[in-house]
Amino acid sequence: MRAISVSAIDVGTVAVDVSNVCRARALPQPVGLHRVDLVLEAWRDQICRHADVFLVADDSLLPELERVSAADVARARRMQASGELLVVPVRRADDVLLDCAQQHGACVLSDDGFRDKRRDGRPAWLWKAERFFAWEVHEGAVRIVPRPSRHTRSYDISRAIEQKAIRAAGITKAHRHVLGRRWACVSDVPCVTREMTPEVLQVVPAIHEGVPCCPGCGAPLRDRGERLPEAEFKVAVGGETQARFTLRQGRPLTFGRLTFPDTAAFAALASKGAFDGVGRRHVELRREADDVHARPIDDRHAVRVRPWDKQRKRLGRERELPARCFTAIGLHDQLLLGEHVALQRSGRSIAEAAELDEGVGTAPWQQAGTDEPFEVHAER
Ligand SMILES: [Zn+2]
Repeated sequence: MRAISVSAIDVGTVAVDVSNVCRARALPQPVGLHRVDLVLEAWRDQICRHADVFLVADDSLLPELERVSAADVARARRMQASGELLVVPVRRADDVLLDCAQQHGACVLSDDGFRDKRRDGRPAWLWKAERFFAWEVHEGAVRIVPRPSRHTRSYDISRAIEQKAIRAAGITKAHRHVLGRRWACVSDVPCVTREMTPEVLQVVPAIHEGVPCCPGCGAPLRDRGERLPEAEFKVAVGGETQARFTLRQGRPLTFGRLTFPDTAAFAALASKGAFDGVGRRHVELRREADDVHARPIDDRHAVRVRPWDKQRKRLGRERELPARCFTAIGLHDQLLLGEHVALQRSGRSIAEAAELDEGVGTAPWQQAGTDEPFEVHAER
């Protein structure tokens, strides 16, 4: 065994996403194992001559190969029998690849970004961009290239997780209308989903034989009417998400210390000064059609915005929003309040977070230790 620390990246070991490579349209010829041969040859030529290779395929690949080439199927079965190729269920394939990278320090060869896996609690060192490789074809020659090290926005991660949940729930294009309505579980059996969200389900419904059903108890759901456009926001303090809330069309809300959750975690942050400069009623938010607008409530509490720079794929330089005016906020922009608080849209299209209730949660810590007068109603 080579003595490597697992957090190091070992280009001499590579885990290959075989189904992904076989289906890669950029590679020559139709779907098949010859594409795996091409990328491995390129890896050995360009990255490491004596690489150890882990081949992982999901079990949806074999039926697909069957339609294309009997020889490929026979070869895949031989490789599987000899242990050269690991065939695992579709839902486990990504995990097996990532386990391999985690346990052996291996690189991963795939054009998948594994975005829906990034919050599964794996160590941060695993996700170093230098570990992930894909391929390009130039004038017929295959070149191994670092996977485009696109800044992975947390928005994209939550969107990918939600898309996966939607697929797992059996919602296909034919059922898309289900996502445009609000649903409630009204079953008589014990159901945690119903108890957690008695009014309206805040998770993706499951589809059974075309009927929207409760993902908790499986009972058919009751239609509670149209789902108005909504946006889920994350409240980050020092870069860490601490809370979430939902903004609905037609229901503007005022965000500030008065709307912070009354939890021990928030009280502890407050005592460290995390909310210095955040007003009790700091910014008004409203959702109209596809846009979110923000309005700083007064001159004393500035709201800064860091707009997302599409070209450079990162947040741009911050600027202050004009006081008392509504300004449209881009999907990926960040709003900054005080010294440490940032508000940002989550990638979820179905908000899971509760709506904010204005004027509640006036815990003692929300009033003490600030530069403002103690009276709660001073600003109203
Ligand atoms: Zn239920």
